[in-house]
Amino acid sequence: RIEIRGVRKSFGDLEVLRGIDLTVEPGEVTAILGPSGSGKSTLLRTINHLETLDGGLVTVDGEVIGYRRRGNVLHELSEKEVLRQRTGIGMVFQSFHLFGHMTALQNVAEAPRRALGVDRRTAEDRARALLARVGLADKADEYPRRLSGGQQQRVAIARALALEPTVLLFDEPTSALDPELVEEVLSVIRDLAEAGTTLVIVTHEIAFARDVADTVVFMDGGVIVEQGPPEDVIDHPTHNRTKGFLARVH
Ligand code: ATP
Ligand code: MG
Repeated sequence: RIEIRGVRKSFGDLEVLRGIDLTVEPGEVTAILGPSGSGKSTLLRTINHLETLDGGLVTVDGEVIGYRRRGNVLHELSEKEVLRQRTGIGMVFQSFHLFGHMTALQNVAEAPRRALGVDRRTAEDRARALLARVGLADKADEYPRRLSGGQQQRVAIARALALEPTVLLFDEPTSALDPELVEEVLSVIRDLAEAGTTLVIVTHEIAFARDVADTVVFMDGGVIVEQGPPEDVIDHPTHNRTKGFLARVH
């Protein structure tokens, strides 16, 4: 379970997160919606300590992310400890960030070998199974430049799954894709949701969010304006800001 409590973050004078409280239960899918600049990516990045916090904390299964408590004071963890925590928190970005000089198989097998010390044979066997799971069994030996955007993003998802994370974070996973490639990636994410993977997804795909999310969160100006099941937040929003946003994007 992810618990985000009173999280605050500023960049200079700009308060980007102004006290965020959010709980993500195991096996649940949380979709985060909101206008550009509302703090969605920053919030996601606090969950694996890609951002330091100015207030509040994030815990995953009870463990404080990025910090150690000494008395009442939080001290930032060493890079090594942060990296260990990140192996449990997978992240998939809008731009796929694959290693261009490695095949799809090597991209997926690399992290378990390096981070978990899994031997090459085992890592590659698992990588093959993961590529099959995202529909790319026949692309294992291709380099990223020879794959479509949708295929590259599916490799990125397989790579994130390779560390067997307790939660997978997606930041606009389909925003960089040509329209005809969006569905193949959404379909993989839908399968993960159905398999009970804990997912937090920042997305502009409202219909998809309504379809897969257990909880929809609407952010604006660094606060959560409204959160609840999709039938409430998407179909019957109560706040004017949510209504305005949905009217604009629908
Ligand atoms: P989008 O939908 O466009 O991706 P977002 O909701 O993900 O937007 P964030 O990326 O979280 O928004 O950014 C929130 C605000 O914080 C923006 O005004 C952005 O310019 C600012 N910001 C984000 N990262 C930094 C940074 N590293 N340094 C300075 N300002 C930043
Ligand atoms: Mg963003």
